[in-house]
Amino acid sequence: MKKIILIFCVLIVCACNKTNESNYRIKTIIEENANTIIAINYPITNIKKLNKKVKEYVNDTYNKFLKQYNEITFLNKKHELNIDYTYYNLADKYISITLFKHISSSDKELILNEVISYNYDINKKSEIKFDEIITSNEKSQIKDLIKNLLFEKYGSIIDLNKISSINYDNLKFSINNNISIYFEAHEISNTYKDIIQIDIPISHFNILEYLSIEKKETPLYIEPIINYIDISKPMIALTFDDGPSIYTEEILETLNKYHSNATFFVLGNKIDAHSDTIIKMYQYGNEIGNHSYNHRSLTKLSKDEQREQIDKTQDIIKKYTGFTPIYLRPTYGSVNNKLRNNTNLDIILWNVDTKDWKYKDVNTIVNNTLRDVKDGSIILMHDTHKRTSEAVKILIPKLIENGYQLVTISELKEAQKIKNNINETR
Ligand code: ZN
Repeated sequence: MKKIILIFCVLIVCACNKTNESNYRIKTIIEENANTIIAINYPITNIKKLNKKVKEYVNDTYNKFLKQYNEITFLNKKHELNIDYTYYNLADKYISITLFKHISSSDKELILNEVISYNYDINKKSEIKFDEIITSNEKSQIKDLIKNLLFEKYGSIIDLNKISSINYDNLKFSINNNISIYFEAHEISNTYKDIIQIDIPISHFNILEYLSIEKKETPLYIEPIINYIDISKPMIALTFDDGPSIYTEEILETLNKYHSNATFFVLGNKIDAHSDTIIKMYQYGNEIGNHSYNHRSLTKLSKDEQREQIDKTQDIIKKYTGFTPIYLRPTYGSVNNKLRNNTNLDIILWNVDTKDWKYKDVNTIVNNTLRDVKDGSIILMHDTHKRTSEAVKILIPKLIENGYQLVTISELKEAQKIKNNINETR
């Protein structure tokens, strides 16, 4: 009987937790291969039909890209694939997922931007197309509005012949407070390369009764836990890139269990979906660093694009934690002077690479790390793999047993500064 009661209690706890969580999570694939770099982030909802479509698109794109660009060497050119997303849930009535695919070569000779959108009516349990959100009376009016907005925003690049042959029944769109409509550049222009987006206030669409979205309360920031550090003893900094993810929580609990901290270099586009995780990350005394918004190869971007990647991520971290990061870990570990001179953030690389994205075996990850680590090491891991959260459970107590304190990058730097000062005054 006792057992049954216990199981029952656990179920209740799980159920409660679920309702507090946001109803989508972000899946991440990040890898560096011989001829390619890949960063893919996409949402997983609790709607199977929708997940299947999104996953099919992602897998198909990923496989085609590898086949086309990784199997052939293009004279020192690395090709980059990036898939980013937007996710909207309008009052639990409509879910919109838009995927943005970007492919480019390191010399920018090839630049390809594509967009695909999925819109789902939660009540009808089916996908909805653009012509289903406008009544037939509205059609011509909405058409004119779209044309006007396109001319207003993109006038100089528009090709008139292309505009006149747009198929309005099958537009790519997302439903939020605005109806956003997306075009690939070639659909309306001969010169432009980026995705084209116009926004129409939802009130223009009669078929949708206007649904106001409840504003989330601004979180009350709680002071983080402080773990005691002895600067005379050896210390190392564990760092986790590419999160937060569904595996981050477990790593946070392991760190907390051993009164240890780490630094998490997070992606801005994953934080809304994992806001509960980022808050806990900060409250447990860990440091949060910036790893760009959607893992584009930063050195390839213009100064404005680099700033946008960094600033958007700074803002969203601050929104949930009140904390503004001071460190940047560049994507793919690649840095140049353009990037260095374009940010106030300190650039942090690593000196021990666990290669947890490559090795599938937990013990290999643990043993590699234990072999290479020494006082002052900065260790690279990724909180996007189940095996990393498992490795951490073995690694952390072992490192502590070997006399190391696990600290944040700020703590490591501060301790090194104090030690240097003591040595100088001696
Ligand atoms: Zn990364």
